[in-house]
Amino acid sequence: MTGSAEKRTELLTAWALEAGFDRAGAASLEPCSGSGASFLRRLERGLFASMAWLGRRPRRRLAPASLLDGARSVLCVALHYHPLEGEPEPEGDLWPRVARYARGEDYHPLMERRLQALAARIREAFPGSGARLYVDTGPVLEKELAARAGLGAIAKNTQLLDRTGSWFLLGELFLTLELEPSEPLAEDLCGNCRRCLDACPTGALPAPHVLDAGRCISYWTIEHRGEMPERARSLVGDWVFGCDVCQEVCPWNEHRSAPAKRERSLAFSLPAHRAELDLTALLGLSGEEYRTRFRGSPMKRPGRSGLRRNAALAMGNRGDASYIPALEQAQASRDPVVRTHASWSLAALRKRRDAARRGRAAAD
Ligand code: SF4
Repeated sequence: MTGSAEKRTELLTAWALEAGFDRAGAASLEPCSGSGASFLRRLERGLFASMAWLGRRPRRRLAPASLLDGARSVLCVALHYHPLEGEPEPEGDLWPRVARYARGEDYHPLMERRLQALAARIREAFPGSGARLYVDTGPVLEKELAARAGLGAIAKNTQLLDRTGSWFLLGELFLTLELEPSEPLAEDLCGNCRRCLDACPTGALPAPHVLDAGRCISYWTIEHRGEMPERARSLVGDWVFGCDVCQEVCPWNEHRSAPAKRERSLAFSLPAHRAELDLTALLGLSGEEYRTRFRGSPMKRPGRSGLRRNAALAMGNRGDASYIPALEQAQASRDPVVRTHASWSLAALRKRRDAARRGRAAAD
């Protein structure tokens, strides 16, 4: 099969939808100038916190053509995970706060399987052509490529945003086939809005399009390993995995603009075997429970120790004295990270409880 670059783009984006993606577009592979420059500035200013892997071979990240020998184009795909109209929010008090994308099954194997199937179909139709897929795994400035491919524009909260909102995941298929680039989004969807900058509870968005990972709840609860410095412990609030605030407040994420369908396995509600874990159960999570309850979940990324650390901090930050017995018990944990954060939260809750007692005594 041959045809023009334009016809191939049409065909491959149609196949991407048949493979199970919600949207797709093609992009060229010239160096990433826009987000490349901003990436280097963030690197220089230390805004990636301890995510050292992002700083490795930065120039390669800016040169997408280097990711596959003979690469001439990239097919970018999007998979939506927005809440559906009428879908209930998880009940707040017991269940720890978890970013939406992580409440269902892990999207990486799902998207990789679909991209593999798409690559096989392309190789069969275009013998001799090469393809290489990425889903968060390589040195790819995915948002810039997706913006070139018309899947959205990089918004002030640094997420990719289009008229359907920003609740979608990205993947890429680098190809040796030449494709006609899709039309990028011409409009600036943010305009004068700055809701996300004002709503971020930790000031992690100090300016439009600038994310300071060292203040970002998602970074601390997911990527940071071991003990958190004191300054970060109250920043994370009661989130135990990720944070959605800058997307929740975005006017484009209201239900009315999102597509009517969504991938079932990326469910908005937690599956029962994880939803029944409240903060106390999460803090006391055994190795066996961690393996069985979090099998196939993106929530495994910080490990059992990280999840228990985050649960301990969420208890302290909720200011609820009923967590004191569980935290006292966690002080005997064999995990020093759990012990340290349980002690920090315990001290915070006792201080608050004692102040309340003194206040009541003074009032009597
Ligand atoms: S909240 Fe406003 S400024 Fe932030 S991403 Fe959405 S539209 Fe842009």
